[in-house]
Amino acid sequence: IFANVPKGPAIEVFALTRAFQDDASTKKVNLSVGAYRTDAGQPWVLPVVRKTEVGIATDELINHEYLPVTGLESFTRAATELVLGSESKALKEKRAFGVQTISGTGALRVAAEFLHHQLKRQTVYYSNPTWENHHKIFADTGFTKLHSYRYWDQNKRQLDLEGMLADLDQAPAESVIILHACAHNPTGMDPTHEQWKQIADLMERKKLFPLFDSAYQGFASGDPDLDAWAIRYFVDRGFELFVCQSFAKNFGLYCERAGNLTIVQQSGATRDMIHSQLTLIIRGLYSNPPAYGARIVSKVLNTPDLRQEWMESIKSMSSRIRQMRKLLRDKLVALGTPGNWDHIVNQIGMFSYTGLNEKQVGVLIKDYHIYLLKTGRINMCGLNTGNIDYVATAINAAVTS
Ligand code: PMP
Repeated sequence: IFANVPKGPAIEVFALTRAFQDDASTKKVNLSVGAYRTDAGQPWVLPVVRKTEVGIATDELINHEYLPVTGLESFTRAATELVLGSESKALKEKRAFGVQTISGTGALRVAAEFLHHQLKRQTVYYSNPTWENHHKIFADTGFTKLHSYRYWDQNKRQLDLEGMLADLDQAPAESVIILHACAHNPTGMDPTHEQWKQIADLMERKKLFPLFDSAYQGFASGDPDLDAWAIRYFVDRGFELFVCQSFAKNFGLYCERAGNLTIVQQSGATRDMIHSQLTLIIRGLYSNPPAYGARIVSKVLNTPDLRQEWMESIKSMSSRIRQMRKLLRDKLVALGTPGNWDHIVNQIGMFSYTGLNEKQVGVLIKDYHIYLLKTGRINMCGLNTGNIDYVATAINAAVTS
């Protein structure tokens, strides 16, 4: 029965992590996987998360009954309000609601299922480059027209807005356009507010459907409101849209799979119909979501002093990343490494598209035990005060070799 099953290609980021684990070098550095690390190179459980977990574990009123198909209501309400803002007109007018999903990936899949099967959408556009799972999720769902739009100018190492607008201008009406809400993965390069306005103008004119992927709210700048600016701007302009939220990075809840799909409609009259269809989609995919991560997020966001502690933690994570960006740029400049490295500090969030080419990446992995994606993307969180000199010297050697 199984004799003819072909072996699928390895998923680069997991293959690199495996290679890193198997590497016996004491100098090894993992800059591939997308997870936060402390300055000591360790994973971090946010103190407010730890505290909340203890409370949940000892709460006699909490049991392990199933959640409703669309999840924990106190969580979806808090998540939807976090992304749209407590003053959101769409919320006040009851034109927006959320359903719990299996983290950001699950939100994207449920969104894609709804758009394809209910609204008969066939065409999706994602940025070039983008998080590689975007293509797979929409292809697996049945979308038949998968396109990329230009986003990154490799020579100038900045956003290619002209290319992006030109490509979106060619998109047929009703195409689904995936937009990274903030901290674009993998480039770390976001549109400015002025550029977002131009993108919104074009999408409105061409009747394109915005699907925001929000995997880094608060983690990017340290300010959840600022990181949701683009989404709220589109909502204020009257777009109907989806937002796929992940709480993996901003709560450090990677494996707990806490996510939310927010739906913003023109009128609350469509809510029950949409909600019922999302319920059926989730029922067929996995019946109902896990409770653990959602309980933690709900408790923290709905308790003012815990929420304040969380705000302090996201500030500390984002400022450590900014500090690493500055140190890396300064060290490369001090070493006289050929090229301009300012893009490293102009980018935001977990990742930097360094501009290193595949050959240079090969040198870093083989000769220096520094693991990064072949596109030159690095996770800034893998850097710390203990390894940054080593990494900068290695990059300098790879660029000049
Ligand atoms: N979108 C983007 C752009 C991401 O970077 C990620 C995480 N790597 C996700 C979605 C989803 O992550 P998760 O399913 O772990 O929430």
